[in-house]
Amino acid sequence: MNIDQKLSALDQIYTLYNEVTATLPVACRKYCADCCTRNVTLTTLEGFQLISHCDQSSLGHLASIKKNLKLPRFQPQITTNQLAQICASGQDPPEEQHDHSGMPCPLLENRQCHIYRVRPFGCRCMLSSQQCKDIGYANMGDFTLTVNHVFLQTIEHLDRPGFTGNLSDVLAAFSSSPFRQAYASGNPTDQPVNLIPNQPLKILFVPPAHRERLQPILNKLHSIRV
Ligand code: SF4
Ligand code: SF4
Repeated sequence: MNIDQKLSALDQIYTLYNEVTATLPVACRKYCADCCTRNVTLTTLEGFQLISHCDQSSLGHLASIKKNLKLPRFQPQITTNQLAQICASGQDPPEEQHDHSGMPCPLLENRQCHIYRVRPFGCRCMLSSQQCKDIGYANMGDFTLTVNHVFLQTIEHLDRPGFTGNLSDVLAAFSSSPFRQAYASGNPTDQPVNLIPNQPLKILFVPPAHRERLQPILNKLHSIRV
């Protein structure tokens, strides 16, 4: 699959996710951005889509990201598909170092996202049924969490050979023109610093109670060639 086919599949995945979540009660509103922190993670495919659609003003924001790489942020040690495999084998996953500083996402200005149209899936799937500021967390139902995991696993599977990491680290990797070119040609041989290689989807994170309800969504996901 070449990069254009992967980007097209990613758009279809986003469209399907919008359909699936269209009827959920969602309290998220414009300028509500408490969840927009430096801890967003994504795949290189989502990062490539993001930089490919940036205008001059957004590119200025991307340039500033490299200057702030010393700031705290969540940097995952394992991918979602790795986590699913570790859990399925009965092993304990490695302990991740979470960041609680709550510093704002580098792409946020005046409580607005500079790249909203091409924001990564990790941002799209933050759908709270109550305002987070009122309850202190994002309130998502168990089935929505299952759906989110399945979509995250599918996007990771699609982006191979590619990588996963924190937004700042993915965008820093793409600021290197050799990496950008190698990635676009489907052959990113060098692993960028702080990013981890994506893994194939071998087992889904789906509790037995959600299997029947999820099946029609899985059928539609399968019809998107990933
Ligand atoms: S997830 Fe919470 S903080 Fe983020 S937009 Fe929705 S309600 Fe606001
Ligand atoms: S990329 Fe945009 S939507 Fe995502 S956390 Fe940053 S500002 Fe928020």
